Order: sequence, then structure tokens, then C-alpha cells
Amino acid sequence: MFQRVLIANRGEIAVRIMRACRELGVETVSVYSQADADALHVQLASQAVCIGPAKASDSYLNVDALLTVAKETGCDAVHPGYGFLSENADFSDRCTQMGLAFIGPSGDVIRMMGNKSAARELMQKHNVPVVPGSDGAVETAQQAQEIADKIGYPVLVKASAGGGGRGMRRVDRPEDLEAKFQEARAEALACFGDGQLYLEKLILNPKHIEFQILADRHGNVIHLGERDCSIQRKNQKLVEESPSKILTPELREAMGQAAVTAARAAGYENAGTIEFVVDQEGHFYFIEMNTRIQVEHPVTEMVTGIDLVREQLRIAAGLPLSVKQEDVVLRGHAMECRINAEDPTQNFRPAPGTTRFVHFPGGPGVRVDSMLYNGYEVSPYYDSLVAKVIVHAPTRLEAIRRMRRCLEEMIIEGYPTTADFCHLILHHPDFVKGQYDTGFLAAHQDELLGWDKED
Ligand code: ADP
Ligand code: ADP
Ligand code: MG
Repeated sequence: MFQRVLIANRGEIAVRIMRACRELGVETVSVYSQADADALHVQLASQAVCIGPAKASDSYLNVDALLTVAKETGCDAVHPGYGFLSENADFSDRCTQMGLAFIGPSGDVIRMMGNKSAARELMQKHNVPVVPGSDGAVETAQQAQEIADKIGYPVLVKASAGGGGRGMRRVDRPEDLEAKFQEARAEALACFGDGQLYLEKLILNPKHIEFQILADRHGNVIHLGERDCSIQRKNQKLVEESPSKILTPELREAMGQAAVTAARAAGYENAGTIEFVVDQEGHFYFIEMNTRIQVEHPVTEMVTGIDLVREQLRIAAGLPLSVKQEDVVLRGHAMECRINAEDPTQNFRPAPGTTRFVHFPGGPGVRVDSMLYNGYEVSPYYDSLVAKVIVHAPTRLEAIRRMRRCLEEMIIEGYPTTADFCHLILHHPDFVKGQYDTGFLAAHQDELLGWDKED
């Protein structure tokens, strides 16, 4: 096992990684920007080093500064968390070149799966179903037109380098394609510095179902079941749960097998996620692989009892997986609500501020991952996620009741959050019945906010 790990991140995930390290007897070094001097991941650290100004490009994305700190503090590994440099192939390579273990896959694997049209082609080659669409990238709008005519409208124009729901455009009619194609290209260039596009058929009202996988250096690849992440606003997840109401044991088996095949095809090592959309007939299609730990990983930890960050560290240290596929049992039901410092009545606009008072829920089957404390100032510079409330219960309905109870117990004063909005979702009859897809929030947002007003 490693002696000392550099945590190249901030917020709740930095704290989460620190916890796994402590339990393994591994020392950690935290890094922080000038805006984060009072942050929890600094206060809890035995060693913390300032790496630059508030702007992420000058601090958390500053590869040279991070590597210098890692070397000077005697670290032997780097954990990138999620966001920031976690899916940056060059960062993975640079760590390896400097003799630091990167706690994630190799640069080559990140590069390959980071190009979503190339990943699609790889999956096709290995008989993992993909959404009907282009073979690889599409060069011109005219070429896209021909493919769209063949697969039928509506279609999605997507950026090969895409992420966070950006560089993506829905096209309903042939006459709109040219304009949307150029829009997507411009956004992809601006966000990712890469304008390459590809085409997928738009699956109407799909479920977003993703599979957690683990792969070690010894050829073991397993999956840890699914997470249903169909409750999304602006293509970003808000509530996640496992297991998914729509998966029969047969479908879970088939999708789990496909996820393992996908990870093997990529030559994957470490923890990763295979994302699928599932249509209303239960057909599933690969959409992308996330080559890092995910925000919603605790949902899987609650139903499997497996510490994913601990597994990540073990894998990167060259140890074999501590579980076999047949030992993975999904027990009960888990659910996560993302608590963001955002105003749901202002289309989820980030609303940072000073945490005047915070009280977290507790009791049986409850877990809160957060960096908040009384007086903590939420920075406008970074992601608005301030807490994740995760519950575990024997059944889905008990998990819903437990989550409602948790959100009622929780107090965060000083800025608006998504907590009350999540509480409303947990009361919607369709959500309670498990009848929801990725269109749920767009369809019900006004209705839910209306409930709030009547109260
Ligand atoms: P990102 O890299 O931005 O996460 P994804 O390819 O994972 O992009 O897509 C983001 C979301 O968009 C998905 O979770 C799903 O809700 C929706 N989506 C993506 N592809 C399709 C598709 N072909 N049909 C319908 N919805 C899709
Ligand atoms: P996940 O499935 O892990 O939630 P997402 O596709 O929602 O992944 O987001 C990808 C990562 O990028 C997340 O870890 C998130 O923290 C980060 N991220 C998303 N939006 C932003 C943003 N506006 N600024 C900084 N980081 C972001
Ligand atoms: Mg995605």
C-alpha cells in the first residue's frame, strides 16, 4: 500500500478520499487555493499546501504545481477525485512519468474513452449495443444530414470531447440540422477546445442507467450493479438510486455483462462507470464511460457494502480486487440527494454564501458526505455541490421515507439549496411509483415549485 497520497481535489470528495486513506493507514497531503484556506479538506489535513489563486486554472488544474507538491512532500500516489484533472489523460501520464501512481486508469485509456465517438466505435467492435448513429465522427453538416435521414429524427448532435451535458444539441427536423450542427461545434470548441462531433438517434424519454465497474491489474473485472440517475436538471444528476425499479434480474445480468465487456475492451484498470440509456422497451445502449470515481458512488457503497475509494487505492497499488463477482450482493435500497447551493426558483442558479448554521441528519441507514461546517463560506469559484445525503433501507419505499425524514431534519442556513426541491420530488406520485425518466424534471419542475408556493 502507499505511504502518502496527494489529494488533487477539494470539497466533499477530498474529505471522502482522506477518510479512506486514514482507514488504510495511508498519510495524505491536501492542496488548496487561496480561496480555500479555511476549507474542511485543509482543516482535517495533517499536511496542506497552497497551490495558487482561487481560479481553478491557476490552482486545482495547475499540473506543475501539483506534481511539485507531490514530490516535495514525498507522496507516492495521486488521487484526482472527480472533475478537475480526473479525466485528463496527460495528467495521468505525467504522474506515471514522475514515478507517482495515478489512482485511476492510464493516460491511454482515459484518452480513448474520453473521445466519445471513438469509444462508441470500440464498443461496436465488441458487440456492446450503442445508440444507432454515426460510425465514428462526422465531418460536415451534410454528412450528418445523410446519416440522420437514414436513422430518422429526432437526433442528437454530440461532441466527441463532451462532458457535463455540454456540446450537445437535439435536432427534430432536417431543416434545423445545419444550424444546430454549427452551434454544437462552436460550444464544443469553446468548452473543450475540440470541435469534433458525432451523431446519435435521440432515444425518447429514456432511463439513465449506469453500471459501476472495478478492474484490477490481474485481469479481474467485476460490476457492482446499477445506479438509476434519470432525475436530471440541465443534463446534471440530482437524485440517484440503486437498484433501479425497471431492471429485471435478466436485464441487470445482460447490462452488467455488457459493462464488464466494455471495461475489458478498453483494457480498463481502476474504478469506472459505464453509462447507458434504456428505452421504453427495455433495450439498452452504451453512451459513454466515465473513467473516475463518481459523485454518486456512495449509492453503490450502501447497497454492496464495498468501499470504492479503498478499492481504488488497492488497485492502484497493484493489489487484487478484494471481492469476486459472485460475492457482490445488492442488499436493500439506497438513494442519494445532491444538495447544491443553488436556487431552484431561479433555474438552479448557483447561490453561494456563508453557512450561518448547519445541522445534518443522522440515525439508522443515513450517511452525509459534505465539507460544510458552521461559518463555512461557500466559494463562488467552484462546483455548487455542498452535501450529499445518502440513505439505505430494506425496501425502496422505506428508503424514500427515510430520505424525506432526513431532509426534514437537515438545516442549512445562509443560502438556498436544492434540499427542499429534492423533498418535493420525493413526494411526487410518479417518483414514488418509480415511473420516471430523464424527462421527469423538465416536465414536472413548475408543478413541483408550485407545490412549494401553496405551502
Ligand atoms: P456527458 O458526457 O455530458 O455526461 P452523455 O453522453 O453522458 O454526456 O449524456 C448526458 C445525458 O444526456 C444522459 O444522461 C442522457 O440523459 C442524455 N442523453 C445522452 N445521449 C442520449 C440519447 N442518444 N438519447 C437520449 N438521451 C440521451
Ligand atoms: P457524475 O456522474 O460523477 O456526477 P457529472 O457528469 O455530473 O459526473 O459531472 C462530471 C464532473 O464534473 C463532476 O464530478 C462534477 O463535480 C464536475 N463538474 C460538473 N459541473 C461542473 C462545474 N460547473 N464546475 C466544475 N466542475 C463541474
Ligand atoms: Mg454522462
